[in-house]
Amino acid sequence: MWSSKHPPIFLRKVCYPIEDGGLGIRDLRSWNKALLAKTLRNIHMKKDSLWVRWVHQYYWSEVVDWRKRKDDTMLIHKLVEIHDELVLLFGSWKGVMLEMSHWFGGRHGLTEDYRCFIPGQGRWPWKPFLWKPHILPKHRFALLIFAHGKFLTKDRQPYVLEKECGFCRDVHESAHHLFFDCTVARQLWGRFWMWMGVQCSVGSSSGLLRLLRGRFRGTTLRSRRCQTGIAVLIYHIWSARNRAVFEDYRPDADAIFRKTLIHIHRSLYDD
Ligand SMILES: [Zn+2]
Repeated sequence: MWSSKHPPIFLRKVCYPIEDGGLGIRDLRSWNKALLAKTLRNIHMKKDSLWVRWVHQYYWSEVVDWRKRKDDTMLIHKLVEIHDELVLLFGSWKGVMLEMSHWFGGRHGLTEDYRCFIPGQGRWPWKPFLWKPHILPKHRFALLIFAHGKFLTKDRQPYVLEKECGFCRDVHESAHHLFFDCTVARQLWGRFWMWMGVQCSVGSSSGLLRLLRGRFRGTTLRSRRCQTGIAVLIYHIWSARNRAVFEDYRPDADAIFRKTLIHIHRSLYDD
């Protein structure tokens, strides 16, 4: 298997755990990442060790604000890299900590953590919802961008000088503001939860994820409505925002929500 120039089994796959069709061979790069992630968590939790205390004293008080500095050691650089990779994977540092508490809090320990870093094997928590068959490609794509925190809101565009929110024109535009805090977004989510018949107010992407992994994880009509609805609403918030920014459209929560419902209906009932 190893001698051939083109190995018959995709090499990464032999590193998958046996129950996932691999050979369980330890992939050193992923294992290394897992150790770094564990170190990162220890620093965040202020786990008592001389080194962690030293990092707290000399480097960062808050893991959230980690940035590379020119004169940092290689280890610190690697820690910042793994921090950024995890935040990208789980949407926010809060999401990372929640995920890591499953890894290290449970009986699996580092093995679970390690699996997350095997390329292609990722336990990215949004993944099961992205590939639901009732979510249409354009909504899926919006959900993907949202989950990775990659919508190009104005706070992520250094060359855009006017930073005000495309909807309310009141506050600096960030993904969190646009999708959750803005009055338009609040009205839309309010209508959505009312339509779903649940009393809840979700104010972050990790909150949405908790719902999707909790009460709406199944395949009942209610769960499918919720899974589809979240993707569709995110799609419509972003497209209304674009019209507001580029076409001088005045956002109207009722109209946006009507469109959202039509799309949810199409996704769930049209073949
Ligand atoms: Zn706003």
